Amino acid sequence: CGIVAYVGHREACPLVIKGLKRLEYRGYDSAGVALLNGDGLKVYKKKGKVSALEHELSGRTLHAKIGMGHTRWATHGEPNDVNAHPHYSFHRKLAIIHNGIIENYAAIKENLLRKGHTFASETDTEVLGQFIEDIWENQGGTLEEAVRLALQEVVGAYAIVIMTEDDPTQLIAARKGSPLVIGIGEGEFFCASDATPIIEYTKDVVYLNDYEIAVIKDGALRIVTLDNTTTTPYVHKVELEL
Ligand code: GLU
Repeated sequence: CGIVAYVGHREACPLVIKGLKRLEYRGYDSAGVALLNGDGLKVYKKKGKVSALEHELSGRTLHAKIGMGHTRWATHGEPNDVNAHPHYSFHRKLAIIHNGIIENYAAIKENLLRKGHTFASETDTEVLGQFIEDIWENQGGTLEEAVRLALQEVVGAYAIVIMTEDDPTQLIAARKGSPLVIGIGEGEFFCASDATPIIEYTKDVVYLNDYEIAVIKDGALRIVTLDNTTTTPYVHKVELEL
């Protein structure tokens, strides 16, 4: 339902939580964050309001310069802590958040189960995360390539953001049928399901098109299509007032 992600020089956790609150108007049943620092990639998620998640986080030191958060409106699997996003895959330490529905998730899941994968949740989202991880692990190459190959097989609608423990500079975002906005600041990047969590920090945004993947890595943004053509992002100036 709601997506916020950040990489840059600010503290990611409070920024992501604030962004999720700006997206609360959309309605949701659970909320979660993934944060990456020297201690690794950590996921915290909770059924209920963003304030319940905040309560869960309070008292922890969660310094991180990269992180992402999600508010979920359940479509596959009841609203509970486990089905909340982000979903974490252990093999490659990959976290994913997702808006939308992966219509062919059952077929993909069956294949992965046959290969020995196990699933913690009942969501279509966790299946997509493990599918990407499986391609990354077995076909070599980069995470970006694995995301591209996986999304070529996906039927449905999605806006996703992925981060992995092995690269604290990288966010990979993609969309088809669900909105996703990339904000470009000074040495920092934002992703969100609409511009409201971003405009406080930058007015420069790129609206991702269907079948595009945004690769934010080492302080730069590149956009490729699912058929691997690099496109030049069109940077809009948002005029929205808070
Ligand atoms: N289909 C996903 C789920 O049920 C995402 C729902 C959403 O858009 O929040 O977990």
